[in-house]
Amino acid sequence: ALTAGIVGLPNVGKSTLFNAITKSQVEAANYPFATISPNVGVVEVPDARLDRLSALFHPKKTIHATFEFTDIAGLVKGASKGEGLGNQFLSNIRLTDAICHVVRCFDDSDITHVEGSVDPIRDIEIINLELIMADLQTVENRLGKIERKAMTNKDKEAMAEVELLRRVKEALEGEKPAQSVEMDKEERLQMKNYNLLTMKPMIYIANMSEEEIAAPQDNAYFKLVKEYAAAHNSEVVPICAKVEEELSSLSKEEKDAFMQEMEMGESGLDQVIKTAYRILDLCTFLTAGEDECRAWTFRKGMSAPQCAGVIHTDFQKGFIRAETYRFEDIDELENEHAIKEAGRLRLEGKDYIVQDGDVLHFRFNV
Ligand code: GDP
Repeated sequence: ALTAGIVGLPNVGKSTLFNAITKSQVEAANYPFATISPNVGVVEVPDARLDRLSALFHPKKTIHATFEFTDIAGLVKGASKGEGLGNQFLSNIRLTDAICHVVRCFDDSDITHVEGSVDPIRDIEIINLELIMADLQTVENRLGKIERKAMTNKDKEAMAEVELLRRVKEALEGEKPAQSVEMDKEERLQMKNYNLLTMKPMIYIANMSEEEIAAPQDNAYFKLVKEYAAAHNSEVVPICAKVEEELSSLSKEEKDAFMQEMEMGESGLDQVIKTAYRILDLCTFLTAGEDECRAWTFRKGMSAPQCAGVIHTDFQKGFIRAETYRFEDIDELENEHAIKEAGRLRLEGKDYIVQDGDVLHFRFNV
């Protein structure tokens, strides 16, 4: 499953946001494949197209794609040196696909800031330095092992790895993220094996007050975070964690009414999920039938057999073809018979690159 880890200094609103996530959590009965543990919240990926399919097919079950948030406790100043929970948090965060970094952008004299004042850029840099230091340890450990191998065997591959790791180490020592190092495609792939934290895409979550969330651009802290994110190849989403927590305890109808009143187009949590999809290059394909309508996540560029494999490995192994049409076609024509009549049902083979919003039926040998 796709996961994002939530990090941030103490008292910035992480628990408030994580509460909102767990309260919006999917029902385990409908999502038996989701791993649900205390520090994980599994939420549905909002998708109006799936809602529309469901209204057309009246299936027994409608299943949204899911996204997991992991609460990464213990990432405080000095964490990489073993203070606080120390390295325990690192193993949790290494397994995530992206990092959501909650930053305090609200003034409130009743809520102490660990660093004594509200200063989002300073906070960001404190956390990022911890991530950099953790990566430096990882890289140094690996270098220690591989350098010996490269020297004794004159192993070409090992030598190339040493060269790459030294470049990364130099950047980290200069307090720059591994992501800032220029790498070709192959080197990038190799780096994946180390699960470096500063290679992961970062979303800054600017947590601001209820009064300000309707017009985030007017919040001076948010402006700073936005500039910082733009300069560092990252994204930023404004939210009010308190509002998210309130939203999470409402029914769908109440939620819509509340959001209209707050002049919010979309909940902050939904925006975070959408942003994560975008930076991770994720797309959605759909399957539709009387039993089940369902949204599935795949990475941009995946072929039809690879997407079949998202559903089941047997579908990929025995793949024959995909019968497909666009969501827009069923939205307009309202049933599959009409789509066929209109000549819009396509047969696609193993080289077909699946597109976001394709509705697919897979044909396969068992
Ligand atoms: P954590 O330590 O990062 O998990 O932070 P918490 O979620 O426990 O929040 C710390 C305090 O800030 C709590 O008293 C929250 O109620 C409060 N808080 C969180 N978000 C907001 C917000 O948007 N505005 C205000 N005024 N307070 C907030």
